[in-house]
Amino acid sequence: MLKIVTRALNAVLPSRCPLTGEIVESPGLLSAQAIQALDFIEKPFCKSCGVPFRFVYAQDDIHHDMECASCAARKPSFDRARAALVYDQESRKIILAFKHGDHIHMTSSLVPLLRKACEEMAAECDVILPVPLHWLRMVKRRYNQAALLATGLGHDVQKPVLLEALERTRYTTTQGHKNVKDRKANVRGAFRVSKKFIKDLKGKKVLLVDDVLTTGATVEACATALYAIGVARVDVVTLARTVKASDNV
Ligand SMILES: [Zn+2]
Repeated sequence: MLKIVTRALNAVLPSRCPLTGEIVESPGLLSAQAIQALDFIEKPFCKSCGVPFRFVYAQDDIHHDMECASCAARKPSFDRARAALVYDQESRKIILAFKHGDHIHMTSSLVPLLRKACEEMAAECDVILPVPLHWLRMVKRRYNQAALLATGLGHDVQKPVLLEALERTRYTTTQGHKNVKDRKANVRGAFRVSKKFIKDLKGKKVLLVDDVLTTGATVEACATALYAIGVARVDVVTLARTVKASDNV
């Protein structure tokens, strides 16, 4: 019934871009104006964490295989991370609308961006996993945006997606206003691999999906849990990642 009503409404009311309000062809599509405002991450970037080298190395092909200063000083617990967009005012609007605004139909617009950022990693992985939400947060939000992205990506690249392989062992407070040290402490040990999936994941190459990478504390905690049960590799792809000016010096 709901489907019929939705279809009828779609036929009468034009679909609008969730960001600019412009009329678009189908629900969840971003308008050309919204896409133009986005800052896409391009090579060269750090071969580990994927932070773009924008100012210093932009013209220099020799440096394509470089690590950023932060990864050189301390290797992240995941293998490689890539992101489609710089997390800025514009991509933040998209992510907040997707996370809290019930715009789940945006998945079809966002998955191609994610796919472009992780083509090589997606081809190499055995299985795709989303960063899980604690069930209490899931009840509040009704859906896990990372699971929607992972499912869409898995469908596109034809790789299996295990939605319940990673679990949150405890409810963590939001990371938003915490510094790097507090973020790490907040999520340390907060994830585990569900017993049911340990055997399936041993020796596998995992591609972990989340919406945003800031300090990397969350995906590092997931990677640590995955390596503890013997996965072969953990790569990470997110829709956006923060890029500080200090990352480029
Ligand atoms: Zn790096």
